[in-house]
This record gives sequence, structure tokens and C-alpha cells, in this order.
Amino acid sequence: MDHLSNHPETAEMQETDAAHHLHPFTDTAALNEKGARIITSAKGVMLRDSDGRQVLDGMAGLWCVNIGYGRNELADVAARQMRELPYYNTFFQTSHPAVIKLAERIAQLTPGDLNRTFFSCGGSDANDTNIRLVRHYWASLGKPEKTVIISRTNAYHGSAIGSASLGGMSAMHAQGGLPIPGISHIAQPYWYADGGDLSPEEYGLVAARALEAEIERLGEANVAAFIAEPVQGAGGVIVPPSTYWPEIQRICDAHEILLIADEVITGFGRTGNWFGCQTYGIRPDIMTIAKGLSSGYQPIGGSVVSEKVAAVFAQTGGEFAHGYTYSGHPVAAAVALENLRILDEEHIVETVGADTGPYLEQRWAGLADHPLVGQARSSGMMAAIEMTPDKSARAPFETPGSIGPICRDFCIENGLVMRHVGDKMIIAPPLVISRDEIDQLIEKAVKSLDQTLAAATEQGLMKPGTR
Ligand SMILES: *Cc1c(COP(=O)(O)O)cnc(C)c1O
Repeated sequence: MDHLSNHPETAEMQETDAAHHLHPFTDTAALNEKGARIITSAKGVMLRDSDGRQVLDGMAGLWCVNIGYGRNELADVAARQMRELPYYNTFFQTSHPAVIKLAERIAQLTPGDLNRTFFSCGGSDANDTNIRLVRHYWASLGKPEKTVIISRTNAYHGSAIGSASLGGMSAMHAQGGLPIPGISHIAQPYWYADGGDLSPEEYGLVAARALEAEIERLGEANVAAFIAEPVQGAGGVIVPPSTYWPEIQRICDAHEILLIADEVITGFGRTGNWFGCQTYGIRPDIMTIAKGLSSGYQPIGGSVVSEKVAAVFAQTGGEFAHGYTYSGHPVAAAVALENLRILDEEHIVETVGADTGPYLEQRWAGLADHPLVGQARSSGMMAAIEMTPDKSARAPFETPGSIGPICRDFCIENGLVMRHVGDKMIIAPPLVISRDEIDQLIEKAVKSLDQTLAAATEQGLMKPGTR
């Protein structure tokens, strides 16, 4: 593998990157000033950069490398599949063995009667599929006016025009004229910021009942579906109060609307069960999957639909005029299948549920004792801390978003990838992280928090603001 590690010098690569590469979710001017951090190889939970530094990847790439880096089995399967059948499509009445086996395996693993998968290349296009799918579903049943999809503020459902509209990120909506018509947003179940004097359980009910109010406001006859992440990920690991999902499920059952669970992050073990739906007691009609489906080794996602939804397509739907050239790509499908075999046979999901997840929860909860931390929360292998200048008031900083980047930079210096969302710090490490590596992660996080507190105090940033 020597030819792979024989890179040009870091500065030279940064210069070429700046000249020719437009990066996603990046301030290009700021990046080009600084130069990109260049990751050259990885193994287990550790990344190696072009200067040879080792960094613990607290984010599993972008929430996706569930089985960890460096699993040669997946490389071998990809090479074998490329030699045998590198590509064929699944349009126009054709199929191939890899996608057939993967579709069957997903049906076995997903709860309830989620038995059929429409494949995509990732989560964004799967959610775009869902918009068309639910509207086509209701039109096929003679209810073409049921088109509106209810989502939540601060949700992340992807970056294509449809999925970014489903999402509730104001910075994304501000660019390019989003959201598209026919999408409405209700509040997120974010007790820490929005719960005021209510208990988390009381606030969970209030937040859930916003769905019922919105259905009534729009008119049930116009509503196609509600979409939500079991735990909001990119929004800052917003773990819902225990009362939230049972009440959402009750409301969906009481009304004629479809429930879409976006499990792109929570699927494939992240919360300690195979799916977040199992952790939170959700019975979706459609489930969005991607990321952990292949542990990020290949781009693949999908919409898994229940028998109720599939039946309409089988009976009255006619042709669903929708598909991607790479829907069910053979190499991606074969790699995903191998990833699911490893997750299953190595009991990786069970280990998160019974051992390393509870261990992370306990160690992470200890961070709440730090003077800079207002709350520490987690669900399996995803977790967040809220940084605050005033713990008892759960106060934001006078200048919101001023502290998160400082902490993020200290983390990197200390050899840890921890992401900031405003002034929240979040992690979602590979599911294979060991207890010993969790200890290392916590140690680096504490050191970074100490340095952040010192820097913020020195710069006069520890002033509370108002929400
Ligand atoms: C990442 C993500 C998506 C988008 O997936 P892509 O593969 O980046 O298109 C959608 N939904 C959720 C919940 C995500 O976290």
C-alpha cells in the first residue's frame, strides 16, 4: 500500500485543494486561508492526517462509520462485486443478486412490516423520494389533496431541494429560496432550551401536541405525512423527553397521516438497538436509511416502506415515475450486506446496548459537573453537552455560537474530533469504540473544556444572554 501513503507535502495538497475543490458546508474563504485538514488513512476509531498525527474520531466520519475504519472484508467484497458485475440498473423490470439479498436483509432487520426498500445513494435523495412517494400514495388512494408534510424546526433531512425543505435549518432555508411549498414545521422537543419551568416530561407532551394542532390548522384532508428523526442529530443530538414519542405515535394513529422516521443516523445500532424506532417505541410507515447501512464505505441509502404503503404501489399505483441511476448499485449493495453481516455476527449493536452505550452514558453524564456544562445527554453512541455561562439558568452566551468553535479547535489540538453545533459539543463515535477508548475520549473532552473555559473567561465571553 506504499503508493497510497506516498502523498505530496501537506501544504502542496492544501494549495491544490483550495484551487480546485469547492467544499460542502464550508466557508470557502476561511478554509482557503487556513488550509484543509487532510486525512490520509484510518483504522478502528483513529484517523491519521497528512502530518502523521493520530486523531480519535468522535464523529464516526459524519455519523456513519459504525463498524469503524479499516475493515478489509468490505474492500474484498467490493473488489469481487466489481469484477463480477460492476453496474447494472434496477429500472424497467431488472434486478441483480446483490440488491435482492440486501433488500431481504433490511426487511429482516427492520421492525414491524417494513418489508420493501426503494434504494437511493444517500439520505438526501431518499427523503426526496419520500416526498414524492407519500404524495403518490395518497393520490393513488383518490386523495390527491393530501400533500403537506409536517416536519420540525432544526431537523436535518438532507441537502437536496426537497430534503433541505423538509429539514428545519434556518441557515439552509435562507439560501436558494427554501422551503418549497407544501412543507410545514412545528417545534422540536428541545427541553433544555425551550422547556422553561416545565419538567422534561411535561414539555415532551407540549411539544408533541404541536403536531395535533398543526394537523388541525392545516386540515387533516391536506396532510400527507409527518417526518422526524427519532433523535435529532445534526440539530445537536436533541434527545426527546420520554413522553414525546408515545404522544406523537398516538396522534399519528388517531389521524390519517403517514409517519416517516428518518433513521439515517439512528439506524443500524446508533442508539443501542438496531433502530431508533425500537429504542423510542415508534411504528413508522416509512423509514429513511443511509449512513450506517454501509458504515460509509459506499454511498447507499433507501426508503423502507410498510406493507400498507407497498400494497398501494402493488395494486393501484401504476408506474412510480421516479428513480436514480444508482438505485441499488451492486457494489454499494454488496458492501452494505457485508457491513450488516459484521454488525450482526460481531454483536456490535448488542454491545452498544448492553455495555459500551451505558458506559459512555455514565462517563458522559459526569461532564455535567464541569463549570462550563449546563447539561450532558446521550442516547447509545450519540451524545451532546450544552455549554453555558450560567448553569442554573440554562442560559445561552451573550454572543451565541462564540464558544463552540473555540472548544472544537482545542479538541482537534488534543487529538479528538468533537463537533460543535452553536455552543453545543456533540459526539457520535464508531460503534466499535472500546471502554478504554471512551476513557481517552472523555479525558480529551475534559481537557478541552478546561482550556475553553480559561480562554472564554480571558476573552470576556462568559456573559449570559437571553433566549
Ligand atoms: C445525513 C442525514 C441525511 C442526509 O443524508 P446524505 O447521505 O448526506 O444525503 C438525512 N437525514 C438525516 C437524519 C441525516 O443525518
